[in-house]
Amino acid sequence: MKVYFLGTGTSQGIPVIGSNHPVCKSTDFKDKRLRVSVWISWGHHSFVIDCGPDFRQQMLSSNCKKVDAILFTHEHADHTAGIDDIRPFNFKQGEMPFYAHHRVISNLKRRFDYVFETINKYPGAPSVETIEVINNEPFSIGNKTVIPVNVMHGNLQVFGYRIDNFAYLTDVKTIENSEIAKLKKLKVLVINALREEPHDTHFNLKEALDFITLLQPEKAYLTHISHIMGYHEEVQKNLPENVFLAYDNLEITI
Ligand SMILES: [Zn+2]
Repeated sequence: MKVYFLGTGTSQGIPVIGSNHPVCKSTDFKDKRLRVSVWISWGHHSFVIDCGPDFRQQMLSSNCKKVDAILFTHEHADHTAGIDDIRPFNFKQGEMPFYAHHRVISNLKRRFDYVFETINKYPGAPSVETIEVINNEPFSIGNKTVIPVNVMHGNLQVFGYRIDNFAYLTDVKTIENSEIAKLKKLKVLVINALREEPHDTHFNLKEALDFITLLQPEKAYLTHISHIMGYHEEVQKNLPENVFLAYDNLEITI
């Protein structure tokens, strides 16, 4: 299975518009972060988690030519605002399956009403098929099983996903023990780490590292990173040897 980091930034991306912060001015390509998303593929199967405002650019830079379905973590704009750009896949493949919590599906129906229109729908609009994800009900994509993992982003429920020995969790602030039990014996854990300072709804670096220590995956990659975290190269130097800051266009094989 290949995991391609399409975006590793927090909601504003890096550089932030109009910012003079040194990390926003960095010329290191690892300090440029689009909104958070990953592309997961194996054999002829190809899936994307979340569809943020940089989706079009991400599909172009990764050379992703086929998306069998999109799995959503939650409805926030940095994870959903690119939905209109699934159209090239619709024209080639037909309806795009969307896997999401029923609350997220209702939210998308409201915000992207033209996508879900049934009467006089504009023919060029995106077309989607919605599949509800329910906690504790694993589902299949391709020939693999996905285990939904319930986490909390402040007061908002968010789904993380485990596929084989890989788990992708973003926008986590708290997680119950019953959900932590789903994350044992991972080869690779992807987990959000916003910055060093605490934040109300996201893990900071210390919380993410403590979580990694608790779960003991073989390797962990940090994502959903703010410019305030610092330069990629300097932050990486101080991480434990099995923990890596993800960066855009990084591809790993599991
Ligand atoms: Zn987010």
